[in-house]
Amino acid sequence: MTAPYALFWAATAALTFCTGLGTAQAATTAEVLPATRDMLHHAISLHTVEGAGQVPVLAKYLADKLEAGGFAAADVEIIPVGQTAALVARYRGTGAGKPILLSGHMDVVAAERKDWTRDPFTLVEENGYLYGRGSADMKTAVVVLVQTLIRLKHEGFKPSHDLILLLSGDEETTMASTRELARRYHDAEFLLNADAGGGTIDPTSGKPVLYQVQAAEKTYADFQITLTSAGGHSSEPDPDKNAIYRLSRAIDRIAGYQFPALSNDITRASLRALGAHTAGDLGAAMRQFAAHPDDAKAAATLSADPAYVGQIRTTCVATMLNGGHALNALPQSASVNINCRIFPGTPVSEVRDTLVSVINDPSATVTTLPPPPVASPASPLRKDVMDAVGHAVHQRFPDVEVVPGMSAGATDSMYFRNAGVPSYGVDAAFTKPDDTFAHGLNEKLPASELAASLDFWHTLLTRLAK
Ligand SMILES: [Zn+2]
Repeated sequence: MTAPYALFWAATAALTFCTGLGTAQAATTAEVLPATRDMLHHAISLHTVEGAGQVPVLAKYLADKLEAGGFAAADVEIIPVGQTAALVARYRGTGAGKPILLSGHMDVVAAERKDWTRDPFTLVEENGYLYGRGSADMKTAVVVLVQTLIRLKHEGFKPSHDLILLLSGDEETTMASTRELARRYHDAEFLLNADAGGGTIDPTSGKPVLYQVQAAEKTYADFQITLTSAGGHSSEPDPDKNAIYRLSRAIDRIAGYQFPALSNDITRASLRALGAHTAGDLGAAMRQFAAHPDDAKAAATLSADPAYVGQIRTTCVATMLNGGHALNALPQSASVNINCRIFPGTPVSEVRDTLVSVINDPSATVTTLPPPPVASPASPLRKDVMDAVGHAVHQRFPDVEVVPGMSAGATDSMYFRNAGVPSYGVDAAFTKPDDTFAHGLNEKLPASELAASLDFWHTLLTRLAK
């Protein structure tokens, strides 16, 4: 904590707790920014990668901040889950309605110092960016959520609903802590997830284009397809029985197959808005498909673009291959992994059945790989959520359109949607496409987004829970 901020904080605390007034002066974003940056610096320094045992350390650090910021110890809980942990903090409201859940994750994808230009676990500000593992995905949003709740406490804000912060500890890997959180906290009004959605900046003009609320995500599933044959000496080939040949024919058929075009309220609204900002045939196809989802020509144009085919269809693609056991032997088995991103509303079993009929080889076995795929229905577009998000976005960028969107998945939201909680991805940050390198090397976030996120969440929560 920097000195001026510490002084401010002490003064605020004195006003709140010593005068008995119960409310304090509202803190501005500029005033809480230094403490938020300190928190981010510490959060990034902790190696919350899988297996390092540091997620519980970060959870404890954030829990201490929340308690020092006015949360009762009974309202802050660390839930150990294997080597990781989840953090829960309940901000008690005045009692109307079910709680509003706020979701994020404390873990990060692994990062090696030798591969990065800078130390991935040291927050560095350079060239207008915050560099460090988790700067974009998603320690910035995590500390902003924690800081916003503390700020609201100090302001004496009384939400109409309980606000429950749910931070998972293994979103990037097995999601066991997410499942535990969804098991405990599925009786809720809705969930706001800071790990999805967000604003887009045009890379050429540098201007904000639109803001997307993630209201649906595709279901992730892996299928293993295996062919077997008797094997034998490679000098005596029998092409009809060769498992590798039969598997390659099966793969060819999958490569040539296209699942039917589908749409819902969310994808149509999203394509309509994107179409208004996209030039040429692609933009025209987006607008046409949004208005007429049965237009095969528009669907074909969108399907030819790898960035958009997934918005209108289930997609399945070969990702890993295994076969044979010796250079000079006929193969006894050959298998391929088919990774599918399934359109919301389509059962996983239906996709498996389609693969079986497309392969058209009765000797092939098609296995759904663990963990069991989690179907997540699209969340209905709530007017109160869309309006409040619109208000928070327009405070910063009055002309930016706010539209719903579907992502390729998978975030923590899928377990909550699966449990019946409407979930909305509402990351505050505006970024250029492919600029943050989340999960990749030299991950970064425009430095402007730290203060902007504090503004955004303060506005969003005070509006939605007033
Ligand atoms: Zn994430």
